[in-house]
Amino acid sequence: MTGRPPPGPPRAPGTARFPAALKPAGTAPASAPTTAALVRPQRPLQQAADDAARRRAPSGLGLDSAAVRERMVQRLRAGGLRCEPVLQAFARVERHRFVDSALAGQAYEDTSLPIGLAQTISKPSVVARMLSLLFEASGAAQRGHLGRVLEIGTGCGYQTALLAQLARSVVSIERLRPLHDKARANLATLDATPGALSADLRLLHGDGRLGHAPRAPYDAIVAAAGGEELPAAWLDQLAVGGRLVAPMVDAARGGQGLLVVDRMAEGPAGLARRWLDAVHFVPLKSGTE
Ligand code: SAH
Repeated sequence: MTGRPPPGPPRAPGTARFPAALKPAGTAPASAPTTAALVRPQRPLQQAADDAARRRAPSGLGLDSAAVRERMVQRLRAGGLRCEPVLQAFARVERHRFVDSALAGQAYEDTSLPIGLAQTISKPSVVARMLSLLFEASGAAQRGHLGRVLEIGTGCGYQTALLAQLARSVVSIERLRPLHDKARANLATLDATPGALSADLRLLHGDGRLGHAPRAPYDAIVAAAGGEELPAAWLDQLAVGGRLVAPMVDAARGGQGLLVVDRMAEGPAGLARRWLDAVHFVPLKSGTE
């Protein structure tokens, strides 16, 4: 698939690239079903920001080189990925900045890596597969970008950074406060990189099973954690022409599979579902911590 990079508003050098994400909690609509929008930096967040800043200077591993990411992109191509905007996003976003420095040397291998609190950053080939599936939805194919995206499971923010290259706006929800803070710090350091983030990005701490109604409907919904059933809110918040991609337990398969749901029209009859690859994602849990 080919396509143009998402059109984004021109920005003066040095201006914030995701002002919405940095707004204080009071700017979120009071009716938001998720717990809250962002809070102002507090001590743990400052520590996360310091850690993230330290990762900006990897020692002699050559991870800042575009060639490292280009090799990862070549491997994704060799694996059959053909969606050019997605490949370009992988070439741009520095994955090593999202993992602990001890793991940075493995950041461009096709492997999942721990990000703390028993969670993992998914392996590049799986993330690429999910993003390219979103791109193949009828609406995205026509537009050349993903439009309005809802992401469930921000984790360390790596996939969020990729989505920010591919969409007009991204709402990303994480239920674990320390990871929400870590992602926010990681994405804030990326803000200093020219052209690194182009979408309106909003990070929320909350239960993603509820989606985020104030900004619905979404052209693309993507989950990084898998449950037993698809939360009804996700289907309610999916726009006509939009696509949802989520890991989910597939009873027929006896394990997790990648579920793709397209909305062709309003109402339950307007949905088409299909199961694709077997996958292994962390569980979709309820509530927040
Ligand atoms: N794409 C992420 C992967 C994170 S792993 C990255 O690039 O790092 C999946 C994440 O989903 C975990 O951080 C987990 O805490 C989160 N999660 C699980 N259930 C959730 C829920 N109901 N709402 C929001 N986040 C959830």
